[in-house]
Amino acid sequence: MKFDTVIIGGGLSGLTCGIQLAEQGITCAIVSSGQSAIHFFSGSFDLLGKVEGREVTNPLESIKMLPPSHPYQRVGHHNVERLAGEVPRLLARAGLHFSGMAEKNHFVLTPMGTMKPTWLTLEDFTCFEQNGELPWKRATVLNFKGFLDFHTLFIKDGLTRYGVEVQTRDIAMKQFEAIRRNPSEMRSSNIAKVFDAGDALNQFAEKVNELTEDADVVILPAVFGLFNTTVTADLKARVKKPVVLLPALPPSTPGIRSQILLRQRFQELGGTYLLGDIVQEGEFKEGRLQNITTANHGDIKLEADHFVLASGSFYSKGIVAGPDKLYDPIFGLDIDGESDRSQWFDKQLFNDQPFMHYGVKADEHFRALLNGQPIENLYVAGSVLGGANPLKEGSGAGICMVTALHVAEQILQ
Ligand SMILES: Cc1cc2nc3c(=O)[nH]c(=O)nc-3n(C[C@H](O)[C@H](O)[C@H](O)COP(=O)(O)OP(=O)(O)OC[C@H]3O[C@@H](n4cnc5c(N)ncnc54)[C@H](O)[C@@H]3O)c2cc1C
Repeated sequence: MKFDTVIIGGGLSGLTCGIQLAEQGITCAIVSSGQSAIHFFSGSFDLLGKVEGREVTNPLESIKMLPPSHPYQRVGHHNVERLAGEVPRLLARAGLHFSGMAEKNHFVLTPMGTMKPTWLTLEDFTCFEQNGELPWKRATVLNFKGFLDFHTLFIKDGLTRYGVEVQTRDIAMKQFEAIRRNPSEMRSSNIAKVFDAGDALNQFAEKVNELTEDADVVILPAVFGLFNTTVTADLKARVKKPVVLLPALPPSTPGIRSQILLRQRFQELGGTYLLGDIVQEGEFKEGRLQNITTANHGDIKLEADHFVLASGSFYSKGIVAGPDKLYDPIFGLDIDGESDRSQWFDKQLFNDQPFMHYGVKADEHFRALLNGQPIENLYVAGSVLGGANPLKEGSGAGICMVTALHVAEQILQ
């Protein structure tokens, strides 16, 4: 099978790169072995939340303070500004509408009832201009009876610190009785499916209205709209008080919906998405990757002019930590990280952990390195790249989407 470009990994970076290329008429295939980090999506994409422990107001300005090895510095300040500006438009073309801008972080409420700075927030969720200022005196936090993935008491604690008086309540409905019998079935995606089917939303909204007469705001877990993209707006229209959704524990309903919409966009543009297939190895000739072998296609190799490695970080096995080495399990590419295991961790859990910075090494054009030499047609994008601690910095999605667009531009040149 022959394509212009084959992308390894169908998470946020692989899909962003694939959509950008397919929009320009490039024939693309994405091979993805399984779930991606977007299934755990909080509802907000971070560009840069913190530098050296200090909260960032303007991510585009603060990027200049990052070390030269950081992916943003390597993409270049002006390119980051331009590409970050393109991201909301690309997402909107896929049917995903976000608020926010790269020049100024806004704030969102976390599942702990605290606030954090972020870049783009999905329309389901509520954005705040300032940290620490909430526009309500009384909030009611509602949960579904038996739903263990939403911690109302943490939220109550957090909001109380901002001076909000909080009540917590549970709602029971017969539509959820079947899934409630087994706690492992009472998950956000199953609750969302009941609302997607349509019959429960009206009754739920009526119950919410009864329980929240005294409140200025109703806080609910974000379990609305898995396949049906209008459920969240319908709910907000039926509930009399303002509704604020907070992320529940994974799987994330808005995350799965985002993945579905991005994948649909890629496929509508003519892209081929091979889900549940694992890229096992590649064949190299004269500094170029000729083809890749996948578990499902066996002898039928996937050939392309360009390849993109977007296989994620440790979580997705884009890189793997063995007992005594770090490695990329597909091609054995050069790794940007310590080979000495004792250097991987800092014993202080909350310190900047060295292993979080590790990833596949790439040259200035984001081409992967093998034995110190760039592979001419193999690019690296997203969280498989080294050079940043996305968790500590609050830069995860930003690095993924900006590097994915940058790599797409390298291929299009
Ligand atoms: C649990 C979690 C939650 C996060 N939440 C947020 C958030 O809310 N906001 C934010 O800004 N950032 C968040 N991040 C940061 C995150 O890294 C990025 O947001 C981003 O989603 C990562 O995208 P990616 O495409 O680089 O990698 P991934 O999403 O990890 O995708 C990599 C894909 O490659 C596939 N793959 C791997 N190896 C192979 C192979 N050999 N063959 C075929 N396919 C393969 C995997 O199955 C996977 O689908 C989160 C990270 C994690 C781990």
